[in-house]
Amino acid sequence: MGRSGKTLDIIKAQLSTIRDRSPFYRAKFDGLDLDIGSWDDFREIPFTDKHELREAYPLGLQAVPDRDVVRIHSSSGTTGKPVIIPYTAKDVEDWAVMFERCYVMAGVTPEDRVHITPGYGLWTAGIGFQAGAERLGAMAIPMGPGNTDKQIQMMEDLGSTVLCATSSYALLLAEEIQRRGARDRIKLARALIGSERWGDKMRARIASELGAELYDIYGLTEIYGPGVGISCEKSCGIHYWDDFIYLEIIDPDTGENLPDGEVGEIVITTLRKEGAPLIRYRTHDLSRIIPGDCPCGSRFPRIDILTGRTDDMVKVKGVNIFPGQIDEVVSSVPAASSEYQAMIDHLGGKDVFTLFFETDATGTEKESVEREIGAAFKSKVGITIVPKAVPVGDLPRSEKKSNRIFDNRY
Ligand code: ZN
Repeated sequence: MGRSGKTLDIIKAQLSTIRDRSPFYRAKFDGLDLDIGSWDDFREIPFTDKHELREAYPLGLQAVPDRDVVRIHSSSGTTGKPVIIPYTAKDVEDWAVMFERCYVMAGVTPEDRVHITPGYGLWTAGIGFQAGAERLGAMAIPMGPGNTDKQIQMMEDLGSTVLCATSSYALLLAEEIQRRGARDRIKLARALIGSERWGDKMRARIASELGAELYDIYGLTEIYGPGVGISCEKSCGIHYWDDFIYLEIIDPDTGENLPDGEVGEIVITTLRKEGAPLIRYRTHDLSRIIPGDCPCGSRFPRIDILTGRTDDMVKVKGVNIFPGQIDEVVSSVPAASSEYQAMIDHLGGKDVFTLFFETDATGTEKESVEREIGAAFKSKVGITIVPKAVPVGDLPRSEKKSNRIFDNRY
């Protein structure tokens, strides 16, 4: 569907009644002309941001009568009030339909035994994985997180074939299985991993230690939960269900739509949600629409594996730069190690981007690696930088990508 007339019609219909249904949007869109005739009109409609959802605490987002609400979920409130999302029976069913699609795309069948380690409760993760597995007809094993001993014991005894986990918990389980020499007793063939920015090296390690194919699953509590999209067996992006959500990629600074292929912020409009519909919701997740058809043959459009969060982005010489792009440049040059540190300064009236990276090369070879990094940066990101090679082990190690970029301009 994507940017088809049919999708526009659905959005038009949503907008025509949203003020009657939702007290949140009645206040937000007060006096606004919502009678849109084109995609350009749609792009004039204001974004919805998370802080507004927080202000609607507890049930300000509810867009149906109480009798139609069957469940609530809540996003973890690390700061301030949590966001509460009410679900109708149809919302719960729609979410399970999407999640079942995810399993099918990952090659999971009713014969499979699905080991679910994400948490249950207010959070949307565990129960979403479970509902989709049950709908598919697979055997759901609702473990929840923690107790690694029991996890591995159950995996062995029940012969779990599919693991659902966050990337960090999957890594912990993989290492523990390795340490115990339990690999031969584990039957895992696939793992569905909550999509977040994680390096190729970590991915390869989890895959080889678990002996499983990995699939990235995408979603967020405000929009159902995980399960609105998943990568396919070709591992070239995440297919998302465009009959349930309309997805835009915007420049986080200007709010303008970006052309397909360019990295920006994911903005989602729900097409069917009843309990708490959202219009142009800013996710703060960074990705890009992958143009063209996927070799897997699926008709569902694709976004790339997440590049990071908008908070990690820096703007240099008018170009938005994300940590994921720097990773990509550095890893495209074989003579450079994966570690880097970027310094951004404002000198003599212009931005200067200096990229320190590690290499074993010395002398003229070192200079040629620097030139290679500079050229790769120019072609992949679009700006000229100052590449500086340092010996391997010189740069500090950090788990957080955002700690590798130092903006000294302000
Ligand atoms: Zn595909």
